[in-house]
Amino acid sequence: MVGKFPKAASVLLLAVIIPLCLRYLRSHYLLNWEGRYEFRPTKIHQPSSVEQIASILRGASLKGKTVTIVGSRHSWSDIAVPDDTMLSLEKYTGVVHIDKDRQLVTVRGGTTLEEIVIAIEADGLALPQLPSVSGQTIAGAIATGTHGTGIKYGNLATLVTAIEIVSGEGIVYRASENKNHDIFRTALIGLGAVGVITEVTITCVPAFNLHEVITLMPLQQCLQQLDDIVTSSDHVKLWLEFHTQQVQVYRSNKTTSPRRDSPTGFIFNLKFYVFEYASYVMSWIPRLTGAVMWVSVNIFKCLRTGDSVGSPLEVFNIPHYFVRHPELEYGVPYNATADLIRELIAIKEDMKNEISFNQITEIRFVKGDDIWLSPAYGRDTTFITVLTYNPSDVLMHRFFKRFASSAIQHGGRPHWGKLFYETEAELRTRYLKWDEFMAVREKMDPHRVFSNSFLRRLFHLSVKQ
Ligand SMILES: Cc1cc2nc3c(=O)[nH]c(=O)nc-3n(C[C@H](O)[C@H](O)[C@H](O)COP(=O)(O)OP(=O)(O)OC[C@H]3O[C@@H](n4cnc5c(N)ncnc54)[C@H](O)[C@@H]3O)c2cc1C
Repeated sequence: MVGKFPKAASVLLLAVIIPLCLRYLRSHYLLNWEGRYEFRPTKIHQPSSVEQIASILRGASLKGKTVTIVGSRHSWSDIAVPDDTMLSLEKYTGVVHIDKDRQLVTVRGGTTLEEIVIAIEADGLALPQLPSVSGQTIAGAIATGTHGTGIKYGNLATLVTAIEIVSGEGIVYRASENKNHDIFRTALIGLGAVGVITEVTITCVPAFNLHEVITLMPLQQCLQQLDDIVTSSDHVKLWLEFHTQQVQVYRSNKTTSPRRDSPTGFIFNLKFYVFEYASYVMSWIPRLTGAVMWVSVNIFKCLRTGDSVGSPLEVFNIPHYFVRHPELEYGVPYNATADLIRELIAIKEDMKNEISFNQITEIRFVKGDDIWLSPAYGRDTTFITVLTYNPSDVLMHRFFKRFASSAIQHGGRPHWGKLFYETEAELRTRYLKWDEFMAVREKMDPHRVFSNSFLRRLFHLSVKQ
């Protein structure tokens, strides 16, 4: 009896107390995905109807309060960090309607991408593309211009045909190409500054699997054949490893073939986590990074090569990172891809003795669009993401700033949900519709209810009483 007590106690601890503590911490200690920003709102609203959302905004507008709309907190920047009231659509989720014939799905703004994928699968539908994780809310993902890869595929906001949005004064609008067109163009990639997106109608495609082929090739060869590679498949992305100058080329095409050799299989996940762990350890031992990367690439085929068929969630998404790292990403005109990659390599060469370049660079391709604050506005765009597991923020920022300034020379525009350093004066020269965006934003939120330190910094907004 005595001997059994500690066992029973530890079962109780594991099964009840720890989950309760985690739940408490989750609801009282909010961080963004990376853990860089802590959320300390004065009040949290989790409305479950449009009427409640409108009433919260009317109240805030009358009292001169500010509200920050928060999705799944997957942004690396402080874009969604509230300094007053936080409004979350965690309780406003789910599918409203599926129009199988027209291949459209309407969902509430707080629904995550993964929830949408699962919900429409039963009706034989799929989202045409996904980013590399699917825990983001649909409204949060479109608000920052979240994208996947494929030069014939725009970012997620380009899939949206209609929205319902509640303005800063609590007025509910429906907007699409044909109705309230200016609100539509402004709110799609609206940075949480235009209104609360409560409903989103998205274009789907018939359900598919993805046939994925992954090969390894030297960087120079990849750059010489870039156009052929980028157009060779529906979805192409490149993972560049600096020390070996090798590129992993991921190509996938839609197929109705059944799944085989699932890419999220045990071995791939194991390699991913071993690589991640090794990269993390290397952040403290920069001198060994080159050797570890050589082994990862040449022995373990960093991280895999091969040929498989998997579901969209398996192929588009990558396994969850356990190292919470910072990221910066710039979109440059497609024609600048090779030059910017060469400049990135030169920056890394120059800094390799002070910083551990222990992670790959991800290069993705996105079709140009006409959404006013889209980083892909008016041009086919190459998105280059830099990340590093580094114990020092000082070095990380130094490296990020050098890469950002190179990207800017090529007309680069930052990903709104990742780190960037530019001011409004610098950005408006690269966003041709900046003033139009600001004019509609002002009409939608004359009292500047949607305001936090990110938006005030970016748009020079002061709160109107
Ligand atoms: C591990 C990881 C992988 C990622 N992969 C990719 C990728 O492959 N491609 C890519 O482009 N990005 C990627 N991102 C970035 C991510 O997709 C964006 O930052 C996205 O905006 C996060 O969505 P969220 O729901 O977490 O929104 P949050 O980060 O919480 O908020 C983002 C913005 O959306 C606004 N917002 C949220 N809900 C609403 C609403 N209902 N109405 C109006 N505005 C709203 C917020 O105010 C804020 O401005 C990744 C991020 C992580 C952490």
